[in-house]
Amino acid sequence: MRFVSSCLLSVCVVGAAYAQDLAITDVTVFDGTGAAPYQATVMFDDGLISVIDKRAGDAPAGVPEIDGSGLSLLPGFFDLHVHYTPIGEPATTPQISEAYAAAGVTSVYDFAQPPEAFAPRRDWLKTLPGPRVNFAARMSTTNGHGADWSDTSTTKWVNTPYAAKEAVKELLPYQPDVIKVFTDGWRYGSGVDNTSMNEPTLTALVEEAHSNGLKILTHTVTKDRVEIAGRSGVDVVAHSVLDEHIDQDTINALKTAGTAYAGTLAVYNPDKFDTPDFDRQHPSFKARQARFQVGLDNMKALYEGGVLIALGTDAGMPRTPHGTSTLNEMELMVRAGLPAKAALMAGTSNSARAIGVYDQRGSIEVGKDADVVLIAGKRGMRFRIYTRRNTLSLAARWCSGKGRRSLSLTRIWRHPKWRAQRSTISIVKMAARHATRWLWGTRMAGLSAAGRSSNSGGWQARRCASPVGGSGAA
Ligand SMILES: [Zn+2]
Repeated sequence: MRFVSSCLLSVCVVGAAYAQDLAITDVTVFDGTGAAPYQATVMFDDGLISVIDKRAGDAPAGVPEIDGSGLSLLPGFFDLHVHYTPIGEPATTPQISEAYAAAGVTSVYDFAQPPEAFAPRRDWLKTLPGPRVNFAARMSTTNGHGADWSDTSTTKWVNTPYAAKEAVKELLPYQPDVIKVFTDGWRYGSGVDNTSMNEPTLTALVEEAHSNGLKILTHTVTKDRVEIAGRSGVDVVAHSVLDEHIDQDTINALKTAGTAYAGTLAVYNPDKFDTPDFDRQHPSFKARQARFQVGLDNMKALYEGGVLIALGTDAGMPRTPHGTSTLNEMELMVRAGLPAKAALMAGTSNSARAIGVYDQRGSIEVGKDADVVLIAGKRGMRFRIYTRRNTLSLAARWCSGKGRRSLSLTRIWRHPKWRAQRSTISIVKMAARHATRWLWGTRMAGLSAAGRSSNSGGWQARRCASPVGGSGAA
């Protein structure tokens, strides 16, 4: 049953023989639509969200059930900028897939593959539990960034509007999911600048891509260039503006075009918990910190100016680990001054909107893909749900604090018959230990005492051990 309207549902749940693949009962839902969190039983069928019943209660008889009381259900997270297996280390692909699932990330956009690798990788990834991996074809300019280390098969070099249009056409047989364009040659003041793409070329590239249904993300890191990206109709700026503070002109350029901003703060943060002392003592460290502060300030200004904030990390780059960086990016948005809810929206529905798949995923709504993350806990792990003023909120100390890993994948839930859809329910447990924690708070009826209702083991499937019990059913 592909689409089930909520009004039908009250009839259906009464009937005993209501076919559903899974129910998560009595769970706190942050649905990503902008609505306040609510309590509901959410059901899944054929890889889709099939029922959202706001009345608490058990699942219909015979439906495999996870007791969600005391737990939180969110749309699976997006990361619009990762390097899945950079510099060719395919053997790490299964571990990387698991790292994303462990962090509740269900959609990523990989900027590190030559087009020839798309088809074999798609075939391989189909066999691995993990996120939806979307592939970006890469474009740059002669002597541009991205062309400085890669060949012309991995990254096409274009310098004129004609060349840009031809290059897009040449990429179409490889069926890229998106195109990533290195438009900005500024090397952060710390290296020799590369070339940048001129505005007519970028504009032609965007036009040709859009006419073929492809979104454009750019490597853009300066104020001047981000305004060009807006004027050219780029869909997502996939880095931060770090050279100077933006102004109203910048905001207007992006807003007018509907360009989203995915700031990759995670890669730019110079002071990570595993940054070695010799790095902190390096003469460039203070300059990098100052640039990062500009990035934080610009993120806040763009958010407040009404630009759509999406999420990208550059994960796969040094000290920017897969999976956890996506969560860290939301922490850093909060540090920049965004409300926690805005950071969560950036990591879910905003990113889906920015990349053009919001009709399929990015929020918890009936008919959408069952790409969700259930944040679970056990009493022994000191998982806590905090009461805050009617908003889901998170305290941001996880990746930046010292200490041990506080989040782990319990299982990837995927019904055997969901193989084709690739929908993924990541069930993640979190532990608040030392300074490393990631807290979700919500004020819901019956959810006030910390950890009270997250009974250990209770969130495990009660009625159907076989599909729920195994990990990675696909
Ligand atoms: Zn990158």
